[in-house]
Amino acid sequence: MADPKRYDVIIVGGGIIGSSVAYHLTRDRNETNVAVVERDPAYEKASTTLSMVNFRIQFSLKENVLISQYTSELFDRFEEIMQVRDTRPNISLAREGNLFLINEAGRPAAEASMKQQQELSCDVEWLNPDAIKAKYPLYDADQYPGGTFSPQDGHFDAYAVLMAYRAKAISQGAVYIADEVTGLKKNDGRVTGVELASGGVLEAENVVNCAGAWASEVAKTAGVSIPVIPTKRQIFVLDTAVKPAGPLPLTILPSGLYFRTETGGLILLGKSMDEDPVGFDFTWDRDRFMDLLWPELAEFVPAFDTAKLMRGWAGLYAVNELDGNALLGEWPELKGFYLANGFSGHGLQQAPAVGRYISELILGKAHALDLSVFNPVRVLENRPLSEDGLV
Ligand SMILES: Cc1cc2nc3c(=O)[nH]c(=O)nc-3n(C[C@H](O)[C@H](O)[C@H](O)COP(=O)(O)OP(=O)(O)OC[C@H]3O[C@@H](n4cnc5c(N)ncnc54)[C@H](O)[C@@H]3O)c2cc1C
Repeated sequence: MADPKRYDVIIVGGGIIGSSVAYHLTRDRNETNVAVVERDPAYEKASTTLSMVNFRIQFSLKENVLISQYTSELFDRFEEIMQVRDTRPNISLAREGNLFLINEAGRPAAEASMKQQQELSCDVEWLNPDAIKAKYPLYDADQYPGGTFSPQDGHFDAYAVLMAYRAKAISQGAVYIADEVTGLKKNDGRVTGVELASGGVLEAENVVNCAGAWASEVAKTAGVSIPVIPTKRQIFVLDTAVKPAGPLPLTILPSGLYFRTETGGLILLGKSMDEDPVGFDFTWDRDRFMDLLWPELAEFVPAFDTAKLMRGWAGLYAVNELDGNALLGEWPELKGFYLANGFSGHGLQQAPAVGRYISELILGKAHALDLSVFNPVRVLENRPLSEDGLV
Protein backbone atom coordinates (compact mmCIF):
# COMPACT_ATOMS: atom_id res chain seq x y z
CA MET A 1 0.00 0.00 0.00
CA ALA A 2 1.22 3.52 -0.81
CA ASP A 3 2.46 5.61 2.12
CA PRO A 4 -0.57 7.74 3.16
CA LYS A 5 1.77 10.60 4.07
CA ARG A 6 3.66 10.75 0.78
CA TYR A 7 2.29 11.72 -2.64
CA ASP A 8 3.60 12.70 -6.06
CA VAL A 9 1.28 15.70 -6.11
CA ILE A 10 -0.71 17.45 -3.39
CA ILE A 11 -3.48 19.76 -4.49
CA VAL A 12 -4.55 22.45 -2.03
CA GLY A 13 -8.28 23.04 -2.57
CA GLY A 14 -10.72 20.62 -4.16
CA GLY A 15 -13.03 23.04 -5.97
CA ILE A 16 -13.59 22.77 -9.70
CA ILE A 17 -9.99 23.72 -10.52
CA GLY A 18 -8.34 21.39 -8.00
CA SER A 19 -10.64 18.54 -8.95
CA SER A 20 -9.98 19.05 -12.66
CA VAL A 21 -6.23 18.98 -11.98
CA ALA A 22 -6.68 15.77 -9.94
CA TYR A 23 -8.76 14.18 -12.69
CA HIS A 24 -6.28 15.02 -15.44
CA LEU A 25 -3.22 13.91 -13.46
CA THR A 26 -4.73 10.52 -12.65
CA ARG A 27 -6.09 10.12 -16.17
CA ASP A 28 -2.86 11.10 -17.91
CA ARG A 29 -0.64 8.89 -15.73
CA ASN A 30 -2.73 6.53 -13.70
CA GLU A 31 0.01 5.59 -11.26
CA THR A 32 0.41 9.23 -10.14
CA ASN A 33 -0.28 9.45 -6.40
CA VAL A 34 -2.50 12.48 -5.95
CA ALA A 35 -3.97 13.89 -2.74
CA VAL A 36 -6.49 16.73 -2.73
CA VAL A 37 -6.78 18.55 0.59
CA GLU A 38 -10.14 20.31 0.94
CA ARG A 39 -11.23 21.88 4.21
CA ASP A 40 -14.85 22.51 3.19
CA PRO A 41 -16.06 19.28 1.59
CA ALA A 42 -19.63 20.64 1.45
CA TYR A 43 -18.24 23.52 -0.68
CA GLU A 44 -20.37 26.05 1.19
CA LYS A 45 -17.92 28.90 0.62
CA ALA A 46 -16.28 27.72 -2.59
CA SER A 47 -16.69 30.07 -5.54
CA THR A 48 -17.57 27.06 -7.66
CA THR A 49 -20.93 26.68 -5.93
CA LEU A 50 -21.69 30.41 -5.56
CA SER A 51 -21.26 31.55 -9.12
CA MET A 52 -23.31 32.50 -12.17
CA VAL A 53 -22.00 29.43 -14.09
CA ASN A 54 -21.78 31.11 -17.44
CA PHE A 55 -19.43 30.01 -20.20
CA ARG A 56 -18.63 32.17 -23.19
CA ILE A 57 -16.32 32.35 -26.15
CA GLN A 58 -16.59 36.13 -26.05
CA PHE A 59 -13.13 37.03 -24.79
CA SER A 60 -10.57 39.12 -26.60
CA LEU A 61 -7.37 37.38 -25.51
CA LYS A 62 -6.96 34.53 -27.98
CA GLU A 63 -6.01 31.96 -25.34
CA ASN A 64 -9.13 32.76 -23.31
CA VAL A 65 -11.23 32.18 -26.42
CA LEU A 66 -9.49 28.87 -27.11
CA ILE A 67 -9.95 27.76 -23.50
CA SER A 68 -13.70 28.39 -23.68
CA GLN A 69 -13.96 26.82 -27.11
CA TYR A 70 -12.47 23.64 -25.66
CA THR A 71 -14.94 23.72 -22.75
CA SER A 72 -17.86 24.26 -25.07
CA GLU A 73 -16.88 21.29 -27.25
CA LEU A 74 -16.11 19.10 -24.26
CA PHE A 75 -19.43 19.77 -22.55
CA ASP A 76 -21.30 17.92 -25.30
CA ARG A 77 -19.39 14.74 -24.37
CA PHE A 78 -18.72 15.49 -20.71
CA GLU A 79 -21.43 13.33 -19.14
CA GLU A 80 -20.35 10.29 -21.13
CA ILE A 81 -16.63 10.81 -20.46
CA MET A 82 -17.21 11.32 -16.75
CA GLN A 83 -19.39 8.29 -16.16
CA VAL A 84 -18.17 6.25 -13.20
CA ARG A 85 -19.54 2.69 -13.28
CA ASP A 86 -23.34 3.15 -13.58
CA THR A 87 -23.39 6.78 -12.54
CA ARG A 88 -23.47 9.40 -15.26
CA PRO A 89 -23.46 13.07 -14.21
CA ASN A 90 -26.15 15.44 -15.41
CA ILE A 91 -24.63 18.87 -15.95
CA SER A 92 -27.86 20.56 -17.17
CA LEU A 93 -26.14 22.22 -20.10
CA ALA A 94 -28.20 25.16 -21.39
CA ARG A 95 -26.91 26.81 -24.55
CA GLU A 96 -29.00 29.93 -24.24
CA GLY A 97 -26.40 32.35 -25.56
CA ASN A 98 -24.47 35.38 -24.39
CA LEU A 99 -25.43 38.85 -25.57
CA PHE A 100 -23.08 41.76 -24.93
CA LEU A 101 -24.78 45.10 -25.54
CA ILE A 102 -22.23 47.50 -26.96
CA ASN A 103 -22.12 51.30 -26.79
CA GLU A 104 -20.35 53.49 -29.35
CA ALA A 105 -17.23 53.81 -27.21
CA GLY A 106 -16.87 50.06 -26.95
CA ARG A 107 -17.74 49.24 -30.55
CA PRO A 108 -14.24 49.15 -32.15
CA ALA A 109 -12.88 46.80 -29.47
CA ALA A 110 -16.01 44.62 -29.61
CA GLU A 111 -15.80 44.33 -33.38
CA ALA A 112 -12.10 43.49 -33.27
CA SER A 113 -12.76 40.77 -30.67
CA MET A 114 -15.66 39.40 -32.67
CA LYS A 115 -13.52 39.24 -35.80
CA GLN A 116 -10.86 37.26 -33.97
CA GLN A 117 -13.47 34.90 -32.51
CA GLN A 118 -14.91 34.33 -35.97
CA GLU A 119 -11.42 33.64 -37.36
CA LEU A 120 -11.15 30.99 -34.64
CA SER A 121 -14.41 29.47 -35.98
CA CYS A 122 -16.51 30.66 -33.04
CA ASP A 123 -20.22 31.11 -33.54
CA VAL A 124 -20.67 34.84 -32.86
CA GLU A 125 -22.47 37.59 -34.74
CA TRP A 126 -23.34 41.25 -34.56
CA LEU A 127 -27.02 41.99 -33.88
CA ASN A 128 -28.45 45.44 -34.55
CA PRO A 129 -31.24 46.76 -32.26
CA ASP A 130 -34.02 45.45 -34.51
CA ALA A 131 -32.50 41.98 -34.57
CA ILE A 132 -32.15 42.07 -30.78
CA LYS A 133 -35.78 43.13 -30.34
CA ALA A 134 -36.92 40.44 -32.76
CA LYS A 135 -35.23 37.79 -30.61
CA TYR A 136 -35.93 39.36 -27.24
CA PRO A 137 -38.99 41.64 -27.51
CA LEU A 138 -38.81 42.76 -23.87
CA TYR A 139 -35.48 44.51 -24.40
CA ASP A 140 -35.27 48.25 -25.08
CA ALA A 141 -32.29 47.75 -27.37
CA ASP A 142 -32.57 51.10 -29.17
CA GLN A 143 -30.32 52.63 -26.54
CA TYR A 144 -27.35 50.85 -28.10
CA PRO A 145 -25.96 50.48 -31.62
CA GLY A 146 -26.14 46.71 -31.19
CA GLY A 147 -24.57 43.75 -29.52
CA THR A 148 -22.40 40.70 -30.05
CA PHE A 149 -24.27 37.44 -29.71
CA SER A 150 -22.82 33.96 -29.25
CA PRO A 151 -25.71 31.45 -29.36
CA GLN A 152 -23.70 28.38 -28.33
CA ASP A 153 -22.65 29.89 -25.00
CA GLY A 154 -24.72 29.41 -21.89
CA HIS A 155 -24.71 27.92 -18.44
CA PHE A 156 -24.42 24.59 -16.68
CA ASP A 157 -24.60 23.00 -13.25
CA ALA A 158 -21.21 23.81 -11.74
CA TYR A 159 -21.75 21.58 -8.72
CA ALA A 160 -22.46 18.64 -11.03
CA VAL A 161 -19.27 19.32 -13.02
CA LEU A 162 -17.25 19.63 -9.81
CA MET A 163 -18.70 16.38 -8.43
CA ALA A 164 -18.06 14.65 -11.75
CA TYR A 165 -14.38 15.63 -11.73
CA ARG A 166 -14.11 14.63 -8.09
CA ALA A 167 -15.79 11.25 -8.51
CA LYS A 168 -13.81 10.42 -11.63
CA ALA A 169 -10.52 11.48 -10.02
CA ILE A 170 -11.28 9.26 -7.01
CA SER A 171 -12.18 6.35 -9.32
CA GLN A 172 -8.76 6.81 -10.94
CA GLY A 173 -6.97 6.71 -7.58
CA ALA A 174 -6.93 10.29 -6.26
CA VAL A 175 -7.41 10.67 -2.51
CA TYR A 176 -9.52 13.51 -1.05
CA ILE A 177 -8.56 14.53 2.48
CA ALA A 178 -10.94 16.67 4.56
CA ASP A 179 -8.45 18.97 6.26
CA GLU A 180 -6.93 22.42 6.02
CA VAL A 181 -3.47 23.17 4.70
CA THR A 182 -1.96 25.54 7.26
CA GLY A 183 1.46 25.84 5.68
CA LEU A 184 3.64 24.81 2.77
CA LYS A 185 6.91 23.10 3.56
CA LYS A 186 10.02 23.83 1.54
CA ASN A 187 13.72 23.09 1.53
CA ASP A 188 16.50 24.51 -0.59
CA GLY A 189 14.24 26.33 -3.05
CA ARG A 190 11.87 23.42 -3.57
CA VAL A 191 8.50 22.61 -2.07
CA THR A 192 8.50 19.44 0.01
CA GLY A 193 4.94 19.11 1.28
CA VAL A 194 2.19 20.66 3.37
CA GLU A 195 1.28 20.97 7.03
CA LEU A 196 -2.28 20.19 8.03
CA ALA A 197 -4.55 21.75 10.64
CA SER A 198 -5.04 18.27 12.10
CA GLY A 199 -1.36 18.27 12.99
CA GLY A 200 0.08 15.99 10.35
CA VAL A 201 2.45 16.63 7.48
CA LEU A 202 2.06 15.32 3.93
CA GLU A 203 5.12 15.10 1.71
CA ALA A 204 5.25 15.73 -2.02
CA GLU A 205 7.63 17.15 -4.60
CA ASN A 206 4.77 18.96 -6.28
CA VAL A 207 2.09 21.09 -4.66
CA VAL A 208 -0.61 22.82 -6.69
CA ASN A 209 -2.29 25.88 -5.25
CA CYS A 210 -5.97 25.58 -6.18
CA ALA A 211 -7.24 27.48 -3.16
CA GLY A 212 -9.38 29.92 -5.14
CA ALA A 213 -9.97 33.17 -3.27
CA TRP A 214 -7.68 31.88 -0.50
CA ALA A 215 -4.73 31.35 -2.87
CA SER A 216 -2.65 34.24 -1.50
CA GLU A 217 -3.05 32.95 2.05
CA VAL A 218 -1.71 29.57 1.02
CA ALA A 219 1.16 31.01 -1.05
CA LYS A 220 2.13 33.36 1.77
CA THR A 221 3.00 30.44 4.03
CA ALA A 222 5.93 29.72 1.71
CA GLY A 223 6.93 33.38 1.46
CA VAL A 224 5.36 33.65 -2.01
CA SER A 225 3.41 36.81 -2.72
CA ILE A 226 0.84 36.71 -5.51
CA PRO A 227 -1.52 39.54 -6.48
CA VAL A 228 -4.72 37.55 -5.94
CA ILE A 229 -7.32 39.17 -3.70
CA PRO A 230 -10.68 37.84 -2.49
CA THR A 231 -13.42 40.20 -3.66
CA LYS A 232 -17.10 39.93 -2.79
CA ARG A 233 -19.56 39.59 -5.67
CA GLN A 234 -23.33 39.33 -5.25
CA ILE A 235 -26.06 37.59 -7.20
CA PHE A 236 -29.77 38.35 -6.86
CA VAL A 237 -32.76 36.19 -7.72
CA LEU A 238 -35.81 37.95 -9.04
CA ASP A 239 -39.37 36.83 -9.72
CA THR A 240 -40.74 39.22 -12.33
CA ALA A 241 -44.47 39.78 -12.90
CA VAL A 242 -43.96 39.59 -16.67
CA LYS A 243 -42.18 36.44 -17.84
CA PRO A 244 -40.20 36.36 -21.07
CA ALA A 245 -41.62 34.01 -23.71
CA GLY A 246 -38.45 31.92 -23.69
CA PRO A 247 -35.01 31.80 -22.09
CA LEU A 248 -32.99 34.99 -22.08
CA PRO A 249 -29.28 34.76 -22.84
CA LEU A 250 -26.78 36.02 -20.33
CA THR A 251 -27.19 39.67 -21.25
CA ILE A 252 -24.39 42.03 -20.32
CA LEU A 253 -24.90 45.80 -20.47
CA PRO A 254 -21.95 48.15 -21.08
CA SER A 255 -22.17 49.20 -17.41
CA GLY A 256 -21.38 45.62 -16.37
CA LEU A 257 -24.91 44.72 -15.22
CA TYR A 258 -25.66 41.15 -16.27
CA PHE A 259 -28.75 38.96 -16.06
CA ARG A 260 -30.29 35.80 -17.47
CA THR A 261 -33.23 33.53 -16.96
CA GLU A 262 -33.01 30.69 -14.48
CA THR A 263 -35.22 27.64 -14.13
CA GLY A 264 -38.58 28.27 -12.50
CA GLY A 265 -39.17 31.48 -14.47
CA LEU A 266 -36.72 33.42 -12.31
CA ILE A 267 -34.12 36.00 -13.28
CA LEU A 268 -30.55 35.98 -11.94
CA LEU A 269 -28.61 39.20 -12.00
CA GLY A 270 -25.47 40.83 -10.71
CA LYS A 271 -22.88 43.49 -11.32
CA SER A 272 -19.24 43.77 -10.34
CA MET A 273 -18.48 47.15 -8.83
CA ASP A 274 -15.27 48.95 -7.93
CA GLU A 275 -16.45 49.36 -4.34
CA ASP A 276 -17.01 45.61 -3.86
CA PRO A 277 -15.25 44.82 -0.60
CA VAL A 278 -12.01 42.90 -0.44
CA GLY A 279 -11.94 40.14 2.15
CA PHE A 280 -13.80 37.03 3.17
CA ASP A 281 -17.23 38.59 3.48
CA PHE A 282 -20.24 36.48 2.43
CA THR A 283 -23.06 38.82 3.46
CA TRP A 284 -25.39 40.05 0.75
CA ASP A 285 -27.05 43.38 0.53
CA ARG A 286 -30.70 43.86 -0.48
CA ASP A 287 -30.27 47.65 -0.77
CA ARG A 288 -27.72 47.29 -3.53
CA PHE A 289 -30.31 45.54 -5.63
CA MET A 290 -33.15 47.94 -4.81
CA ASP A 291 -31.15 51.16 -5.17
CA LEU A 292 -28.74 50.37 -7.99
CA LEU A 293 -29.43 47.24 -9.99
CA TRP A 294 -33.17 47.18 -10.29
CA PRO A 295 -33.53 50.70 -11.79
CA GLU A 296 -30.85 49.85 -14.32
CA LEU A 297 -32.47 46.55 -15.19
CA ALA A 298 -35.91 48.13 -15.55
CA GLU A 299 -34.51 50.78 -17.87
CA PHE A 300 -33.33 48.11 -20.31
CA VAL A 301 -36.24 45.72 -19.70
CA PRO A 302 -39.22 47.95 -18.78
CA ALA A 303 -41.44 44.89 -18.26
CA PHE A 304 -39.27 43.92 -15.27
CA ASP A 305 -40.45 47.03 -13.45
CA THR A 306 -42.68 44.86 -11.29
CA ALA A 307 -40.81 42.08 -9.56
CA LYS A 308 -40.10 40.46 -6.23
CA LEU A 309 -36.60 39.95 -4.90
CA MET A 310 -36.61 36.31 -3.83
CA ARG A 311 -33.14 35.94 -2.40
CA GLY A 312 -29.49 36.65 -3.00
CA TRP A 313 -26.04 35.45 -2.10
CA ALA A 314 -22.43 36.52 -2.09
CA GLY A 315 -19.38 34.64 -3.26
CA LEU A 316 -15.77 35.54 -3.84
CA TYR A 317 -13.91 36.34 -7.02
CA ALA A 318 -10.20 35.53 -6.84
CA VAL A 319 -9.17 38.75 -8.54
CA ASN A 320 -5.74 38.91 -10.10
CA GLU A 321 -4.92 42.54 -9.47
CA LEU A 322 -2.11 42.51 -12.02
CA ASP A 323 -4.24 41.86 -15.09
CA GLY A 324 -7.45 39.94 -14.35
CA ASN A 325 -6.14 36.78 -16.00
CA ALA A 326 -5.26 33.39 -14.61
CA LEU A 327 -1.83 32.59 -13.16
CA LEU A 328 -0.90 29.15 -14.45
CA GLY A 329 2.34 27.32 -13.90
CA GLU A 330 5.27 26.79 -11.60
CA TRP A 331 6.24 29.71 -9.39
CA PRO A 332 9.69 30.68 -10.72
CA GLU A 333 11.23 31.04 -7.25
CA LEU A 334 9.95 27.80 -5.69
CA LYS A 335 10.43 24.55 -7.56
CA GLY A 336 7.48 22.21 -7.54
CA PHE A 337 5.00 24.88 -6.42
CA TYR A 338 2.35 25.32 -9.12
CA LEU A 339 -0.31 28.00 -9.30
CA ALA A 340 -3.78 27.69 -10.81
CA ASN A 341 -5.11 30.94 -9.43
CA GLY A 342 -6.51 34.40 -10.06
CA PHE A 343 -9.37 33.49 -12.41
CA SER A 344 -11.07 36.81 -11.69
CA GLY A 345 -14.60 35.61 -12.33
CA HIS A 346 -14.16 33.15 -15.20
CA GLY A 347 -12.61 30.09 -13.62
CA LEU A 348 -15.49 27.66 -14.04
CA GLN A 349 -15.33 27.68 -17.79
CA GLN A 350 -11.54 27.48 -17.64
CA ALA A 351 -11.39 24.42 -15.38
CA PRO A 352 -11.17 21.75 -18.13
CA ALA A 353 -8.28 23.36 -20.04
CA VAL A 354 -6.52 24.48 -16.87
CA GLY A 355 -6.63 21.03 -15.27
CA ARG A 356 -5.26 19.47 -18.42
CA TYR A 357 -2.50 22.10 -18.76
CA ILE A 358 -1.30 21.86 -15.15
CA SER A 359 -1.28 18.07 -15.41
CA GLU A 360 0.80 18.26 -18.61
CA LEU A 361 3.26 20.63 -16.92
CA ILE A 362 3.75 18.36 -13.91
CA LEU A 363 3.96 15.16 -15.94
CA GLY A 364 6.21 16.75 -18.58
CA LYS A 365 3.78 16.04 -21.41
CA ALA A 366 3.29 18.01 -24.64
CA HIS A 367 0.57 20.63 -24.40
CA ALA A 368 -2.75 20.12 -26.16
CA LEU A 369 -3.24 23.87 -25.79
CA ASP A 370 -0.29 26.12 -25.03
CA LEU A 371 -1.26 28.35 -22.09
CA SER A 372 2.23 29.64 -21.37
CA VAL A 373 1.05 33.25 -21.74
CA PHE A 374 -0.43 32.79 -18.28
CA ASN A 375 2.95 31.93 -16.75
CA PRO A 376 3.18 33.57 -13.29
CA VAL A 377 6.66 34.87 -14.12
CA ARG A 378 4.82 37.94 -15.39
CA VAL A 379 4.05 38.83 -11.75
CA LEU A 380 7.76 39.05 -10.94
CA GLU A 381 8.40 41.01 -14.14
CA ASN A 382 5.38 43.25 -13.54
CA ARG A 383 4.22 42.49 -17.08
CA PRO A 384 0.40 42.49 -17.21
CA LEU A 385 -1.35 40.43 -19.84
CA SER A 386 -4.38 42.40 -20.81
CA GLU A 387 -7.59 40.90 -22.14
CA ASP A 388 -6.96 42.36 -25.57
CA GLY A 389 -3.56 40.69 -25.61
CA LEU A 390 -1.61 43.93 -25.45
CA VAL A 391 1.04 44.26 -22.82
C1 LIG B 1 -20.78 35.54 -7.89
C2 LIG B 1 -19.83 34.80 -8.78
C3 LIG B 1 -20.15 34.62 -10.12
C4 LIG B 1 -19.27 33.91 -10.96
N1 LIG B 1 -19.66 33.68 -12.25
C5 LIG B 1 -18.87 32.93 -13.05
C6 LIG B 1 -19.29 32.60 -14.36
O1 LIG B 1 -20.39 32.95 -14.77
N2 LIG B 1 -18.47 31.86 -15.13
C7 LIG B 1 -17.25 31.42 -14.67
O2 LIG B 1 -16.52 30.77 -15.44
N3 LIG B 1 -16.82 31.73 -13.42
C8 LIG B 1 -17.60 32.46 -12.60
N4 LIG B 1 -17.19 32.77 -11.34
C9 LIG B 1 -15.83 32.41 -10.93
C10 LIG B 1 -15.72 30.96 -10.60
O3 LIG B 1 -16.70 30.61 -9.65
C11 LIG B 1 -14.32 30.69 -10.05
O4 LIG B 1 -13.34 31.23 -10.91
C12 LIG B 1 -14.08 29.20 -9.90
O5 LIG B 1 -15.10 28.58 -9.17
C13 LIG B 1 -12.74 28.97 -9.23
O6 LIG B 1 -12.66 27.63 -8.83
P1 LIG B 1 -11.58 27.22 -7.75
O7 LIG B 1 -11.61 25.75 -7.66
O8 LIG B 1 -10.29 27.91 -8.06
O9 LIG B 1 -12.08 27.92 -6.41
P2 LIG B 1 -13.14 27.42 -5.32
O10 LIG B 1 -14.34 26.84 -5.94
O11 LIG B 1 -13.34 28.54 -4.36
O12 LIG B 1 -12.38 26.24 -4.61
C14 LIG B 1 -11.25 26.50 -3.79
C15 LIG B 1 -11.32 25.54 -2.63
O13 LIG B 1 -10.11 25.64 -1.89
C16 LIG B 1 -10.43 25.34 -0.54
N5 LIG B 1 -9.34 25.85 0.29
C17 LIG B 1 -8.92 27.13 0.37
N6 LIG B 1 -7.87 27.22 1.20
C18 LIG B 1 -7.64 25.98 1.66
C19 LIG B 1 -6.70 25.44 2.58
N7 LIG B 1 -5.78 26.21 3.16
N8 LIG B 1 -6.74 24.11 2.83
C20 LIG B 1 -7.67 23.30 2.24
N9 LIG B 1 -8.60 23.79 1.38
C21 LIG B 1 -8.58 25.10 1.09
C22 LIG B 1 -11.75 26.04 -0.32
O14 LIG B 1 -12.45 25.48 0.76
C23 LIG B 1 -12.45 25.84 -1.66
O15 LIG B 1 -13.35 24.76 -1.63
C24 LIG B 1 -18.05 33.43 -10.46
C25 LIG B 1 -17.72 33.62 -9.12
C26 LIG B 1 -18.61 34.27 -8.28
C27 LIG B 1 -18.25 34.44 -6.83
